[in-house]
Amino acid sequence: MTDPRRTVPGTDTILADPRLTAMREQLHPAVLKRAVHAAQDAVRAGHLRPDGVVDAVLAAAPVRPCSLRSVLNATGVVVHTNLGRAPLSTRAREAIREAAGYVDVEYDVGNGTRARRGTAATTALCRTVPAAEDALVVNNGAAALALAAAALANDQEIIVSRGELVEIGDGFRIPELLAATGARLREVGSTNRTALSDYAAALGPQTGFVLKVHPSNFTVRGFVSSVSVSELAGLGVPVVADLGSGLLHSDPLLPDEPAAQSWLSAGANLVTASGDKLLGGPQAGLLLGRRDSVRRLRGHPFARALRVDKLTLAALEATLLDAADSPVRAALHADPDWLHRRASALVTDLAADGVPAEAVPSTGVVGGGGAPQARLPGWAIALPERFADMLRAGRPCVVTRIEAGRCLLDLRCVPADADEQLAEAVRACT
Ligand SMILES: *Cc1c(COP(=O)(O)O)cnc(C)c1O
Repeated sequence: MTDPRRTVPGTDTILADPRLTAMREQLHPAVLKRAVHAAQDAVRAGHLRPDGVVDAVLAAAPVRPCSLRSVLNATGVVVHTNLGRAPLSTRAREAIREAAGYVDVEYDVGNGTRARRGTAATTALCRTVPAAEDALVVNNGAAALALAAAALANDQEIIVSRGELVEIGDGFRIPELLAATGARLREVGSTNRTALSDYAAALGPQTGFVLKVHPSNFTVRGFVSSVSVSELAGLGVPVVADLGSGLLHSDPLLPDEPAAQSWLSAGANLVTASGDKLLGGPQAGLLLGRRDSVRRLRGHPFARALRVDKLTLAALEATLLDAADSPVRAALHADPDWLHRRASALVTDLAADGVPAEAVPSTGVVGGGGAPQARLPGWAIALPERFADMLRAGRPCVVTRIEAGRCLLDLRCVPADADEQLAEAVRACT
């Protein structure tokens, strides 16, 4: 009988096994090799038969059901567009799980009849924003605007200030979206100043609505003026206001971010917003406002084309019902002293293992969600820059921020119960 230790399969042979295809695509080569070497060692030690090597590798580093991988966001950017914007609350995650199978999204279990889709989510929206008489949920903020333009200004004019012709990011420009729906844009005022009289002079029978756009990702300073929603509401034509951020009630931490409740109270007929920015919910477009305006939106063919799925409705409702549990809220309002204590504890822990880490002040930002000038004081662990690549390739994948030649692990958006995982990930790089 041959000693199994003499027949240890070679690394290349193991890696070429078709059962490892998914792992080769998903895992960093170093992680996969580590699992292969461990299996080969087990064969050499006589603990594993040579034909069990591939199974052992599969078991050691399980593949995910899809290629998206969860990451620890150590960038200090709360609503990070490249990292999927808002992380969902525990309740929202439970809701998605619940809704994943057959679910009564469009069915009345009491009567055994068809029911209107999405009512629970829109009811939760109207409860949260009492100034809204009705609400509708579509695919994202852009879809909400497109639907408003198509339903309320088809073949008519949308009056908008030249100071509010905003590009949101990745080439997405609000004026181009609006024009694509068949509405005509009527630009008024100048880049830095627009007066109420500019809007008033443009009104006519061709007017569909006046649009107010919150410039969520930039600020203009100096000789500037713009017209408030309440002044626009006095013009006697419908006002649609694009909030962007999805803040439903004002937050003292972000004094320059308008909220749905205040803009509707100021007289906007309709407010549009994203679900996955400051609200901290799933990707969605929220439309809130007057009953007649929302009815027109709901009756437009685009409403069906832009409608959201059951998972979104479930997560949105759960987010609204348990707003206090929102990770976005927690990250925005994280107490700097608490972040400092966490950073110091981690640094002490890592130093004991010889990792050259240091706790340093770090300024977080809101990110894609808005409030471009808001600075959020916090703390980070500073490491040599070379850690950044290794941390991204590790398990869990940690995305950091490079600043002044150092790799910063800002703790603001790292859940506190993931600190130990974070330390493990750092240790694995040494
Ligand atoms: C983000 C944003 C949008 C687009 O919303 P999405 O959900 O990204 O489609 C539109 N308008 C404003 C003002 C925004 O900030």
